Amino acid sequence: SPIVVWFRESLRLSDHPALHAAATSGAPVICCYVYDTESAALRPLGGASRWWLAQSLRALQDELDALGVKLVIRRGPSAKAISELAREASTSAVYWNDVAQTGPRAVAAEVEAALDAIGVKSRVFADDLLIDPAELRGKDGRGPRVFTPFWKRVLAQGDPPKPLPVPVRLSSPSGIASLTVDELALEPTSPDWAGGLRTTWRAGERAAQARLAKFLETTVRGYAADRDRPDIEATSRLSPHLRFGEISPRQIWHAARFAAEQQPAFARGIDKFLSELGWREFSRHLLFNNPDLATRNLQPSFDAFPWSQDAAALRAWQRGQTGYPIVDAGMRELWHTGSMHNRVRMVAASLLVKHLLIDWRLGEQWFWDTLVDADPGSNPASWQWVAGSGADAAPYFRVFNPVLQGEKFDSSGTYVRRWVPELARLPAALIHQPWAAKPLELAEAGVVLGRSYPAPVVDHRHGRERALAAYASLRTSD
Ligand code: FAD
Repeated sequence: SPIVVWFRESLRLSDHPALHAAATSGAPVICCYVYDTESAALRPLGGASRWWLAQSLRALQDELDALGVKLVIRRGPSAKAISELAREASTSAVYWNDVAQTGPRAVAAEVEAALDAIGVKSRVFADDLLIDPAELRGKDGRGPRVFTPFWKRVLAQGDPPKPLPVPVRLSSPSGIASLTVDELALEPTSPDWAGGLRTTWRAGERAAQARLAKFLETTVRGYAADRDRPDIEATSRLSPHLRFGEISPRQIWHAARFAAEQQPAFARGIDKFLSELGWREFSRHLLFNNPDLATRNLQPSFDAFPWSQDAAALRAWQRGQTGYPIVDAGMRELWHTGSMHNRVRMVAASLLVKHLLIDWRLGEQWFWDTLVDADPGSNPASWQWVAGSGADAAPYFRVFNPVLQGEKFDSSGTYVRRWVPELARLPAALIHQPWAAKPLELAEAGVVLGRSYPAPVVDHRHGRERALAAYASLRTSD
């Protein structure tokens, strides 16, 4: 009798431990995805992630079609959907890859119990992480809090297992009812805000592999030096593919190591690139050990932080109307493409939390809704890192100066010109601080501050001092 492979966050056919085991067993295989908005333990996906998921499921369907297998799509709750499918198809077992997070594990435990009740076996396979987070939990039950020793530990473990191949042959029973991707209604209709996402991205395993290959062929050479520059494409842009498991960290690891052997000149870039993959891993370990990472300060002293309730400032930030060009460029890039360069994410997040004194959780939620790579680990971990409330966090008193950040990393102003066209005619020396331009310079560039482009929501020096004072109040109330 057939084995059901329950696809969760590994929407690919290669290096898929559960699929590989089912395929090599010789039994017929039913590939199934459950869109579960009903299990309370799961954080509902944001809008951009739902859009990505739809594209990713279609890509997975295409890959399976090529093997003559249909993707069976159902709606949650997962336990009900999977056990019904198991009964309908007289299945002997259900296989899936683990998602090492509290919510997804709770849902998987419900699935297992429901299957148990009807005499169907479950098999769970490790996936997604380079090292089992339970293994790194100390005696205090806390898990790693500092990145560098964490990453050394991962490296000391040596290479992860070699990636598994795509099954050569799959046989699948026919006649099993399935929803279509369209029926899941994951994509926006009116208004259809996904035009920029469609022109920017191609989801799916094939696209992920092509992106990795291209990155390792050329871009990685300059990665260590250029990864902070938002004006050029200097990074891999693999994050949404990783988020949905269209590619695995093991595949990236082995491909990168191979490239470093072939091209010793790339080794520095490749080490740096893998350590960034390490930050993803670290963030997921943090989430594993702190399931409420998106809602609770890792440092409890921040619970007393005097956040300001400034709805107008929050809206200006969300819309890319803060008057700080590098931040506005980033926020508009995010809205248009579902992504933002890492350096700009840091500067934009810092402006919200420090200059505007707005609770990092509101920023986290906005990113959660608008990023195609919105990740349950990396997003809250990065926000807490920027806010200073996290593990291994940037100290709160380090307040980014958005003008200097812009001048340093987008020195010719190319990135700002692309996303803030109303400033495009300003020279590089002024584009990161239009308010410093003389009236004639503004007139020549067609900029009317406060009309065609806003004045800064808050003066940098004032914002910085206010943030430091708020932080000091926290320390004295300890
Ligand atoms: P590359 O530089 O090519 O890095 C390779 C991979 O390493 C990335 O795809 C990503 O999986 C991982 N990675 C790189 N940097 C980080 C990092 N700082 N933390 C964790 N993983 C990293 N990343 C997400 O994947 N999802 C998020 O929701 C997310 N939210 C963020 C929020 C804030 C406030 C900040 C400052 C950063 C956030 N990041 C998040 C991290 C980082 O910005 C993105 O991973 C990166 O921009 C993705 O681009 P890339 O794939 O070209 O990265």
